[in-house]
Amino acid sequence: MKRSRMLAVLVGGIFCVAVMSLYRMLDLMQGSESKRYGEPPGGQVDEDLAHLQQKIDGLERLLSDNNRLVAMLRDTLLQSKASAWKRANNSIDSALGRRGEALPGCRLAKEMKDGVDGVQLLDVYDLLPFDNPDGGPWKQGFEITYKGDEWSEQPLELFLIPHSHNDPGWIKTFDAYYHDQTRHILDNMVVKLSEDSRRKLIWAEISYFSKWWNDIDDQKRAAVKRLVEAGQLELVTGGWVMPDEANSHYFAMLDQLMEGHQWLQKHLGVKPRSGWAIDPFGHSPSMAYLLKGAGLHNMLIQRVHYSIKKHFAQQQTLEFLWRQSWDSSSRSDITCHMMPFYSYDVPHTCGPNPAVCCQFDFQRLPGRRTFCPWKIPPKPITDQNVHERALLLLDQYRQKSRLFRSSVLLVPLGDDFRYVESREWDVQFNNYQKLFDYFNQHPELHIKARFGTLSDYFQALHRRLSTTRTTLPKLRGDFFSYADRDDHYWTGYFTSRPFYKRLDRKLEATLRATEILFSLTLAEMRRSHSDGRLAENFPAREYFQWLTTGRRNLALFQHHDAVAGTEREHVVVDYGTRLFQSILNLHQVLQSSAHWLLLLDKSQYHHDQSKPFLQMDEVISAQDALPQKTTLSLSYEPRSLIIFNPTEQLRTSVISVVVDSPDAQVIDAETGRQMSTQISAVWAEPSRPSTDTFQLSFVAELPPLSLVVYHVTKASSGSTPRARYTVHRRGNPLDIHTEHFQVSSLQGSEADAPLSLSNKHVQIWSSPETGLLEKLRLQSGLVRKIQVQFLWYGTRTGSRDKSGAYLFLPADEGAQVRPA
Ligand SMILES: [Zn+2]
Repeated sequence: MKRSRMLAVLVGGIFCVAVMSLYRMLDLMQGSESKRYGEPPGGQVDEDLAHLQQKIDGLERLLSDNNRLVAMLRDTLLQSKASAWKRANNSIDSALGRRGEALPGCRLAKEMKDGVDGVQLLDVYDLLPFDNPDGGPWKQGFEITYKGDEWSEQPLELFLIPHSHNDPGWIKTFDAYYHDQTRHILDNMVVKLSEDSRRKLIWAEISYFSKWWNDIDDQKRAAVKRLVEAGQLELVTGGWVMPDEANSHYFAMLDQLMEGHQWLQKHLGVKPRSGWAIDPFGHSPSMAYLLKGAGLHNMLIQRVHYSIKKHFAQQQTLEFLWRQSWDSSSRSDITCHMMPFYSYDVPHTCGPNPAVCCQFDFQRLPGRRTFCPWKIPPKPITDQNVHERALLLLDQYRQKSRLFRSSVLLVPLGDDFRYVESREWDVQFNNYQKLFDYFNQHPELHIKARFGTLSDYFQALHRRLSTTRTTLPKLRGDFFSYADRDDHYWTGYFTSRPFYKRLDRKLEATLRATEILFSLTLAEMRRSHSDGRLAENFPAREYFQWLTTGRRNLALFQHHDAVAGTEREHVVVDYGTRLFQSILNLHQVLQSSAHWLLLLDKSQYHHDQSKPFLQMDEVISAQDALPQKTTLSLSYEPRSLIIFNPTEQLRTSVISVVVDSPDAQVIDAETGRQMSTQISAVWAEPSRPSTDTFQLSFVAELPPLSLVVYHVTKASSGSTPRARYTVHRRGNPLDIHTEHFQVSSLQGSEADAPLSLSNKHVQIWSSPETGLLEKLRLQSGLVRKIQVQFLWYGTRTGSRDKSGAYLFLPADEGAQVRPA
C-alpha cells in the first residue's frame, strides 16, 4: 500500500521533470534563434562557436534546474510520506475515540516541522533503511569519485588541526592523568609551538588547563599568552570539560561552560568562538543552544549514528545551521560541522581509507608505541618519497572534500592524550611540514595546506561560502541514539551507575540553593553594616572557595566518562568523593547563612564549625551511602523547623520530617497558625512499621526565596490524624502488626477490583494483580488506557561485544517480568 503510493508520487515526479525540461529546452532554442536573426552578419565560425557556447551554458542551467527540481520532488515525497504517516496515526486516534487535541508545545512543533525548509531529523530516520552494507575502504560509507579538475578554480584549502583529547578521568583519575600525561603535553606545547610560528594546537578541557596554569611560572604564562595572541593556540569550546550531552542536566552543562569561560576571561582575556565535541556519545541541540548563547559562532560534532553520517555525506549536509526545534527565527542558528567518518583518530580523519590515513600518523612510525592495525606502517617523509607520499595523501583529502559543499577542508591531527613526549611533536609537525611545503611548491596540485586552529578553518569556510554564494542547510533535531557500527547502540550509558547519576543531581540542587542563600546573606550583611563590612566571624572567603570547588566538582562530573558511568571503579569513587565532600561543605554554608539571616539580633551570631546551630534534615555518611533522614526528638518545648525555598516562585509543598512521636503539632512561627498535619508510618520492612519513628507531614506555603520557620511540638495522645492503610493483595494477605495505625485488607471481589486513586486533576486505576498503572482520567474527562511492562534482557553469548557501561546489546527480545 505504502510502496504503491510512493511509486505513484515518484512516477508523477519524473513526468513533471521531463515535461518541464522539454519546455525549458524549447524556450531556450527559440530564444537563441531569435537572437541569431537579430544579429548583423559576421564571422560564421565565431558565431557558431558562440552559439554552441550558449547552448552548452543553457544545458548546464537546465541540468542545475533539474537537480533542484529533483531535490524539491524528494522533499515533496518526504512530506507526503510524513503526512500519510500522520493520517494513519490520526485514524488510529479517532478509532480509539481520542479527542486529538494537541498540547500547545506539540502543536508548535508540528507547525515548525511542516512550515519551514531544511532538514528535520525525524524525517531522515523515516527515510533510512539502516541496512549497514559494506562500503569498501570506507566501510560505513561509499566509494567517492572525482575527476581531478574540481579544484582548478578554487584550490583545495586544507587546515590540519593538531589536537590532544584529554579525558578528565576515565581509566585513570583526573589527577593521575594530569600527573602522568596532561602536564607534559602542555609543557611541551609551550616549547614546540614557540619553535615554529606555523605550528598550531587546539585545547578544549579548561579543568586541565587551569590546573596546569596554577603549576607554571610567570615566564611560561607569558609564553602561553603570546601563543594565544599569535593564534597558534586556540582554546575551543572553553568548557570545564567536554560534557556528556545525554545524562547532563542543562543547568550543569551551563555551569561547566560558565566556569571555563570565566576562567579564560580572567586569566587569558579570551572568549572561545568555536566548539569542539569529538567524544560525547551522541549530540544534543541543547548544547548547540548553550554554545550559541555563550557567544560561539561555530561548533563541531563527531559521534553520530553511522547511517546518518553516510546520508549526510551523500546529501552534502555534513555542514549545516543547527536550529532549535521550537525556533521559527534564525536566532538560535549555529554553524555545525559533523565529522564524516568512524572516529576522531588519524586513520579516520584524513579521508575515507583508514589504511592510507594511518600511514600519515607519524606517531605510529615503526619502533614507536602505537602501530597501524591495517599493517601498512607510516614512512618518514624524505626528498625521495615526498612526491609519492604527497599524492597518496592528496587523494584522501580530495575524496573527503567531495563530501562537503565548499573546498575548504578540515582534517584533525591527534587522538587521546597525544603529544606527551617532545619527540611526538617533532615527528608529526616536521613530516607534515615537508608534505605541506611540497604541496605549496606545486601549484598544479591546486592545494593550499597548513596547520590551523578550529576557528582558522571556520573563518576560511565562511569566506569561501560567501564568495561562492553557497548556503548551508538548516537542521532541526538531535543526534541520539548513537551507534558506531552494526547494532551497537550506545544507550547502556543512559543508566550506568545510577547511584552517582543521582548524586550528581543532589549536588546540583544543593549548589544552586547554597549559591542563592549565600548571596542573599552577603547582600544583607553589607546592607546591615553602613560601611558595607561583612559580619565578623562569618567565614565568607572560605565559603566562597567551597562554592567554587562545588561548582568545579559538579562541572568535572559532567565529563563524558563521568556522569555517563563509563569510568573505572576507582575513578568513580574519586568523583563520588568530590561530589560528597562538596555536598557536606555546602550544607555548612547553608546552615551558617540561614543562621545569620534568621537572627533578629545579628550581634548574637557566633560561628563554630564543630557545633553548627542548625542541623540538616538529611545526612549522608559516605560517598557511596544512601541518605538518612534525621529523626527529630519532640517534647512539649517547641523545636524550630526551617524550610528554604530557593526558587523564585511561591511553592506549596508537602513537607515530611521524621519524628519520634506519633502525635505532633506544627505551628507557623510568624503567624501562630496551626498547620494541618498527618502522621504516617516509617516502614522498617515492607510489612513492619517502625515503632519509634514516624513521618510527620504538613502542607507548607513558601514565598519565593524565603526561609520559613515552623515550630514542632509533641501533642496529646491521639490528637494528630493518622494515615490509614488498606492492603490490596491477592492470595495470602499480609500480616501487619502495628499499635499506631489502622491496617485493613480487602477481601473477595473487592480485592479483585482495580485500585483507584484520585485528586482534582487526575484519577488513576492500577491492576490488582500487578499494581501497575492501567488507566487514567484527566480533569477534562479524557480517558487513556496505559500499559506498563517490565522486560528482562539477557546479554549476547558467543560474541566479543556485550552489553555494558556503554552498549545495550540484548541477546533477543526482552521477556516480560511479572511482579511476584
Ligand atoms: Zn573522551
